[in-house]
Amino acid sequence: MRRLAPYQTGLWLAEYMDMRCQLCRIYRSTPQSQLLHHQTQFRLDNITNVPPTRTALKQHSFLTDIIHQANSYLSSGLLCDHCHNDITWLPRPFEVDIAPSISLSIQASTYYEYPIRQAIRAFKHQEDMTKLPLLLHAIRQLPRPHGCHRNNSVIVAMPTTVQRLAKRGFDPVSILSAQLSKHWQIPVWQGIERIDDTVSQQGLSRAERLSNLDNAFALIEKPPTKRLLLFDDVSTTGASLQALARAFIPPAAVKSATASSHSSYQISAYVLAHGSKS
Ligand SMILES: [Zn+2]
Repeated sequence: MRRLAPYQTGLWLAEYMDMRCQLCRIYRSTPQSQLLHHQTQFRLDNITNVPPTRTALKQHSFLTDIIHQANSYLSSGLLCDHCHNDITWLPRPFEVDIAPSISLSIQASTYYEYPIRQAIRAFKHQEDMTKLPLLLHAIRQLPRPHGCHRNNSVIVAMPTTVQRLAKRGFDPVSILSAQLSKHWQIPVWQGIERIDDTVSQQGLSRAERLSNLDNAFALIEKPPTKRLLLFDDVSTTGASLQALARAFIPPAAVKSATASSHSSYQISAYVLAHGSKS
């Protein structure tokens, strides 16, 4: 049996055993399948449209999707209706340019403001795992990109530096991306590393951030799929995701006016929260 990290047990208890809302701790939580009725219905329609007998691989994918659906119905939910409705979900995606004719669309699950902001800070800086259920609820608001599945897409989590990992002792983004992977049923791919030693992008101007981020990422191996779903916890200007996306585009194409014809990857980005970190 796979060993579970302590936070996974906490998540499981919050989701299946604790009937209370993980935010207000007053009202009974509502199953996410009910809060997200339209999305769930969409996914069920998708599953029904895929002929499960096409290949063994697809059949496997079909069955795991069904199990995943069943689990989501067994879940007692993480937030109550009131708390869920108090938070603005899915702000309009924003775009940053990654080459002259390629832009990167960044979809956030919500804004970086109360209560998500406090939860992210406590989780990242104090390793407060009790905030994870709320963050998981937020991650599940992100709509799985159309047409993406385990066989044609990978999630690329924003890599951290060895120095930062050593200092912090854990990597919050990889924990969050593992949850997104479980939710979307799309694997995380870790073939890119962060080679800069930028302690923080906080307090820098946009120009400073960009020059800092140039050459900050290095590919260790070629991505296994054409569709890359970048993921980070918080995005303010989109500069980090922009730099990460650029690492997948040949340097010549970044300068070329016809870059889209040189880029063989379809890249989109997702974040937990969009907003100012200050
Ligand atoms: Zn509540």
